[in-house]
Amino acid sequence: MEHFLEVVLPIPLEKLFTYRISRQEADFIEPGMRVAVPFGKSKIYTALAYRVHTEAPTAYEPKEIYQILDEKPLVNPFQMKHWEWIANYYMCTLGEVIRSALPSAFLLESETLVLPNKQADVDEMELADDEFLVYEALQYQTALKIEEISDIVDKKNVLSLVNRLVQKGVVLQKEEIYEQYKPKMVRYVKLSEKYDDEGELEALLNELSRAPKQSQVVLSLFQLKLKSNKPIPISDLEKESGGSRAVIKALIDKDILNEYSIREDRVKHGEASETTKNIVLNEHQAKALEDITVGFLEKKPVLLHGVTSSGKTEVYVKLIQQCIDEGKQALYLLPEIALTSQLINRLRHYFGQKVSVYHSKYSIHERVEVWNNVLHNAEKAQIVIGARSSLFLPFSKLGLVVVDEEHESSFKQFDPAPRYHARDAAIVLASFHGSPIVLGSATPSVESAYNAKTGKYGYASIKYRFGEVLMPEINLVDIKEATRKRRMKGHFSETLLHAIEEALGEGEQVILFQNRRGFAPVVECTTCGHVAQCPNCDVSLTYHQHRNQLRCHYCGYHMALQQACLACGSPTLDKKGFGTEQIQEELGQLFPKTKVGRMDLDTTRGKYAYEKIISAFENQEMDILVGTQMVTKGLDFRNVSLVGIMNADSMLNFPDYRAHERSFQMLTQVAGRAGRTQKRGKVLIQTYNPYHQILQQVTTHDYDKMFKEQYYEREQFKYPPVVRIIKVTLKDRDFNKLNEASDWMASSLRNVLGTQILGPEYPPVARISRDYLKNILIKIPKSDSLAQTKNSIKRIEKSFNAISKYKSIRLVYNVDHI
Ligand code: ADP
Ligand code: ZN
Ligand code: ZN
Repeated sequence: MEHFLEVVLPIPLEKLFTYRISRQEADFIEPGMRVAVPFGKSKIYTALAYRVHTEAPTAYEPKEIYQILDEKPLVNPFQMKHWEWIANYYMCTLGEVIRSALPSAFLLESETLVLPNKQADVDEMELADDEFLVYEALQYQTALKIEEISDIVDKKNVLSLVNRLVQKGVVLQKEEIYEQYKPKMVRYVKLSEKYDDEGELEALLNELSRAPKQSQVVLSLFQLKLKSNKPIPISDLEKESGGSRAVIKALIDKDILNEYSIREDRVKHGEASETTKNIVLNEHQAKALEDITVGFLEKKPVLLHGVTSSGKTEVYVKLIQQCIDEGKQALYLLPEIALTSQLINRLRHYFGQKVSVYHSKYSIHERVEVWNNVLHNAEKAQIVIGARSSLFLPFSKLGLVVVDEEHESSFKQFDPAPRYHARDAAIVLASFHGSPIVLGSATPSVESAYNAKTGKYGYASIKYRFGEVLMPEINLVDIKEATRKRRMKGHFSETLLHAIEEALGEGEQVILFQNRRGFAPVVECTTCGHVAQCPNCDVSLTYHQHRNQLRCHYCGYHMALQQACLACGSPTLDKKGFGTEQIQEELGQLFPKTKVGRMDLDTTRGKYAYEKIISAFENQEMDILVGTQMVTKGLDFRNVSLVGIMNADSMLNFPDYRAHERSFQMLTQVAGRAGRTQKRGKVLIQTYNPYHQILQQVTTHDYDKMFKEQYYEREQFKYPPVVRIIKVTLKDRDFNKLNEASDWMASSLRNVLGTQILGPEYPPVARISRDYLKNILIKIPKSDSLAQTKNSIKRIEKSFNAISKYKSIRLVYNVDHI
């Protein structure tokens, strides 16, 4: 009898592929193991074993596999089932899911580039002969392709060799040049506590009078303390005293000065003491925990709707504790990995070394390590914090899923496929495992709130902030009026300026929020009206003062800012609109003595840039933080008493059916950063449109009213959660062909589906990276079968692909979230 292996290749193929295997191989191979296989003329891929069988394929003569790469499955049946669901539901191929799900270290292929790991401390004696050959070759070459390695060791199958080298850290794969997460540790000094006693202090100063350098350092410390009551970094003391680090160190050694680091003092890494571990929930949290448990018993996902700073995290901690007490695994999903640094510290505080972090920015080693720990159900990875890709880990005993900030749109992956929504995919994952799942937010998405109201989800709520802290006081500032009366200073109203002055005067910190989306600063010629456009995309270029460049936010195109208009040559260029950078500059002029930080895509590009800004702000090294959406996300700063929103209108006017919902969420979240401790926080929202219903709902903290109105609108205009939607995007370089093809597609969909089809329509940005885009929106009533509709769409796609002139056109589906 002949034996065959059906595999999933990590490429967008509709069908699985079959290879010939030997009898022994058939006995050995289990689904979920990796095999190296030839494909096409000369390619080698790592593929995933799917099924061993004995039916020879009829359409092609199967090739033999090269090699089995694993001794035990790397992927378990839960994952396989879940990935097939994702492929099906989000209308992509299983291969695309696998490409996204497995760390790239597991998917070596002929195109993989292998680089030497310069940091590695390689013990040449430890290397096998073939490993040494590759290692040696890489001393003289910057990179090797897999096939070159084949030549060097004179073997056809080298994937397992390269695998070993990757595992040993001897080589790196290209695009794998990440660093490990390290929180920034600023070292501070203070005078030892024993000198609180005046007698002791006097004795000290007397004693030091014989050591002028040391005495100078201590005096400088007093001066710095007088200037501001903030922690004093060693570096500042060094500067102020003109002394050297050695002198400061001598004082520390003598226990006259104490050195400390704020981050460490706030949250000690490692195990927490029994007392701090034993959090006692207040009555609201306890009630929420009870309601969540009820929902779990009914086997429903549960929505936890708790206002900002109500202590949702502590409720999750209790749930996680229960989960790991049962010996099960817990997954804590966050919308953005940027948020993790604060959360890791909090969870490590309770659970010590049981917490692992997993996300795509981590080094290959860390990712492989977490994968293996989860696969072996190791204690080290009993709790995994991660962004959406952590859904793909090999959990076998999942006992809890937490989806924090469930309303966040960054749970949706847009490119490349699978274009999945991590919250929704997590619900399915949990159901496969029979695991409870809780979705938490201060501003639930309309669809989750709807699911809770209709009883599909369980529901729990916390309406009060922890520790009797009041909700922030939110006021609207009418800048239309102020502008008319010429009472604005730059982009600041008098009201906002006074509030900033007051907060700074009290030694408190301020967050200013400027949403740049759809409101980027452009440079316009006041003579002819010309605005510089991106040559590849259908958008205006954005001015970046720092680099004095015009940049495209879609494709990265950039050019130096010209002195004169490119169209008419006049030197009359005017910068319109404003972004975070301009706000920072205006602040520099208005408050020259104040330290202003900025957090946006431009300042957080570096590896730890985000963590650095956050910890600098936490440690009060700056007084004002200007930021985009990034500052809205669940951060917990203790000393912020004022949040200012520079302009609320641009997001309200964004052309999207969720624009109002999103504005409510964003404004409420950013407002929630204010006054998280005893003093009531203050929020000022500048707007041209103070009577807008959403702004009214934000100021009165009226989530229910927002929900009712938004739901009513979705009913009127037929949008989710009232109907389901699928967006089909067509892309091509040829404008006319795209239009023709889109018309063909839309009318076929109309003929077959008979449901409501909108479009084809150009998106707001109708050309990106030289491709023209057109969208068709399919609205599917709840009464129709989603699966059948998708099948029909797939059939239409087949006919479409059969039309040769449309070959170049790419089709992209987005399901539910568009
Ligand atoms: P949320 O996630 O709902 O915005 P957090 O979980 O960040 O709120 O809680 C806000 C603050 O209150 C945090 O500093 C947290 O440590 C504190 N807190 C919440 N619950 C408790 C509790 N039961 N005991 C002590 N401190 C708590
Ligand atoms: Zn562009
Ligand atoms: Zn001009």
